[in-house]
Amino acid sequence: MTKLKLPPEVAEYFPYASVRPRQDQFIKTVFDAVESRRSVLIEGSNGLGKTISAISACLPTAVEKDLKILYVARTHRQHDRVIEELRAVFKKHHVSGISLRGRNQMCLNNLAAKNAFDAKSLMEACELLKAKGRCPYHKTPEEQNYEYLQLQQQIAARPYTASDIQKVCRRRGVCSYELVKAALSDVKVVALSYLYVFDPVIRAAFLKNLDSHLQKTILIVDEAHNLPETAIDIASSSLSLFVIKQAELEAKKYENKEIEDFANFFRKEIEKMTENISREQIISPESIIEIIQNQGSIANPRDFFEQLNEVGSSIRRNLLAEGKNPRSYIHGMSEFLLRWLDTLGDDSFIHVASSYITRERLKTAKLEIVALDPSKVTSPVFSFTYSNIVMSGTLQPLEAYARITRLPENTVQCVVPSPFPKEHILSLVCCGVSTAMEKRTPAMYQTIIERINEVVQNTPANTGIFTASFEVLNSLIAEGLEAALDKPLFHEYRGMSSKTNEKIVAGFKACGEGDGAVFLGVQGGRTSEGVDFPGNQMNSVIIVGVPYAEPTPRVKAQINYYDECFPKLGREYGYVLPAMKKASQAAGRPVRTLEDRGAIIFLDYRFSTNYCRNFLPSWVSNHMKVLQPGSNILAQEIHKFFNP
Ligand code: SF4
Repeated sequence: MTKLKLPPEVAEYFPYASVRPRQDQFIKTVFDAVESRRSVLIEGSNGLGKTISAISACLPTAVEKDLKILYVARTHRQHDRVIEELRAVFKKHHVSGISLRGRNQMCLNNLAAKNAFDAKSLMEACELLKAKGRCPYHKTPEEQNYEYLQLQQQIAARPYTASDIQKVCRRRGVCSYELVKAALSDVKVVALSYLYVFDPVIRAAFLKNLDSHLQKTILIVDEAHNLPETAIDIASSSLSLFVIKQAELEAKKYENKEIEDFANFFRKEIEKMTENISREQIISPESIIEIIQNQGSIANPRDFFEQLNEVGSSIRRNLLAEGKNPRSYIHGMSEFLLRWLDTLGDDSFIHVASSYITRERLKTAKLEIVALDPSKVTSPVFSFTYSNIVMSGTLQPLEAYARITRLPENTVQCVVPSPFPKEHILSLVCCGVSTAMEKRTPAMYQTIIERINEVVQNTPANTGIFTASFEVLNSLIAEGLEAALDKPLFHEYRGMSSKTNEKIVAGFKACGEGDGAVFLGVQGGRTSEGVDFPGNQMNSVIIVGVPYAEPTPRVKAQINYYDECFPKLGREYGYVLPAMKKASQAAGRPVRTLEDRGAIIFLDYRFSTNYCRNFLPSWVSNHMKVLQPGSNILAQEIHKFFNP
C-alpha cells in the first residue's frame, strides 16, 4: 500500500487512506480521460481495485456535469460490489446508487415471472398485466400512498443493493422492480447487467425510466472481455422445430386454419432441409423466402408475417385476460421471420440451418440468424455516451478490441502494469506437450497426465486444470488421470446443471483447507470464467491446450467477415483472440487478490510462441518461463515456487 497521490477531485470521493500499487495510475488515466470527455480502454489485473478506482475517477465529472454513471457487469455479485464500494464513498460524500436486477429476479407476480422465457417476453407480459390492472404489486400513481413515495425517496438517497430493496418490497407487497424504476431518475450510480445498455429494446425502456439519454451518462463496462460475445448473442436469434410445432398447435386451438397450414408446411420444409445436415450449414436466406412464396403460396411474406404477429399479439392479450401465461408461439415465430426478412442482404449476418440432439436425446433442428459484427450492437452505445470506461484483466491486444467493438477514435488505451510482486506469480509453459488435433494420441495424454501429477504433488493444497475442450477433458479421464493422482478429483461434465456445478466447486474449495484436491474443467466454461479461487482454494492452475473453436461454418464465416473488415486480421480476430481470452480467464483463477500466490502452468508448447503469447495479459506473459521437455523439470519449478 502507498500513500494517496490522487487528483484532489478524486481524493474527495476515494474512500480509502491508501492506494494499492498501480491503482493511482489506473485512477489518473480514467479521471483524465473522462474529464476531457474521452473514452478509455484499460487493462488492469485482478487485485488492483478496478471497481472503486473507476467509480471514484468518474464521480467528479459526473457530479459537476450532472451525469449518471452506469456500471455494467455480468454477475449480481459484481453489481452488489459496486454498492458496497459506494457505501464506503457515502461516508465521505453522499452519493446514491442502486444495483439493478432483471425484472425476472424482482418480479413478485408468479404469473409473469414463472412463465416468461426471456427478458423481453417478461417485459411484454409485465406491460400487459399492468395495462389490464392484473398485477396487485403494481401501484398506479393514484395508489401510491405516502409510505410508498417515502420508500421511493429513501432508496434514491443512498446506496442500496437490489436484494435490500427486494426484502423491503416483499414485506410491503410492492413491486420492487417498479419502485426502483421510479427512483432511478434520482440515483447517481446504477449497477446493472449488459442487456440494459446493449440490447436496443431493453435500453429504450430503461433510458425512459432513467429519464435520461446516453449523452448524459458515463458508462463503465466491467469484465469487458465478455462484451463482444454478449453483443453477438444480443443480435442473433433462432427458431426451433419445437417452436414451429407449438405454433401449429396454437393455431389449431384458436381455429386459425391458414396459420396452422403454414406452420405445418414450414416445419416439414425445415425438416426436409435439415435431414442430411450433420451439424450446421449456412443457407441462403432468400431460399427460405422463395420456398415460402412458391411452395407455401404466400405472395407477400412480410404482410403475412405481420399478420402472424398481430394474431400472436391478440392471443397473448386474450390469455392475459383469462389470467393465463401470455405466451404465444405464433408471435415468437413471426418475430423471427420478420427479423429474417430484415437481415436479408446484410453481410454482417449469416443464416444457418442446424440439426442437434435435445436433452431427451432426440434429433431436431433449428434455423438461426447469426450476427457476425459485435460493433453493430456496441457502437450505437459507445458513440453516444459522454464517456466509456471499458476495463478488464484480459483485454490485450487493445487495438483489436477497440476495432472489433468500434470504440470512438480518440479512446485512450492503457495497460496498467501488474501490481503483483514478481515472486507472487509463477508462469510456465511446458514444451513437448500439445492438444493440437494431430498430436492427440494416448502417449501424449500420458505425458500430459505425468506433467499434471508433477504440479499436483508439489502444490500445497488445491490445483485447477482447465482443458481446451470436453473432448480433451474426457480423454484425460479415459487415460487414467484420476488413478494417477493422490488427491481427490472433482470434474465438470458436458451438460452439468449449474446447481451440481456449484456443489462440486464448493466441495473442491473446501479441500483447500486440508490436504488439497484437483478440479478438472474446461476453458470457457462456468468455473473457468465465473468463479474466484483465492488463497488455498487454488494454488496452481494448469491450462491444458489452446481452446481453439472447432472450424464450423459459423467460425469460418466470422473469420471471413473480419478479414473483409480488417484485411489479413480475420483469423487473429475471429479465431485466435476468442481462444486466448478463454485461456487468459482460466489462467487468472488462482490470483484474485494481491496477497495470493499462484502458479500458472500452460501445458501446450503453442503458448510459448509469440503468436499466442502476445494475446495473454502482461501480468501472465511478462515473466513467463519456457520449460524444455523432460520429467521432473516442472516438479522442481513448482516445488521451488511454493518452498522459497
Ligand atoms: S409490475 Fe412488478 S410484480 Fe407486476 S408483473 Fe411487472 S415486474 Fe412483476
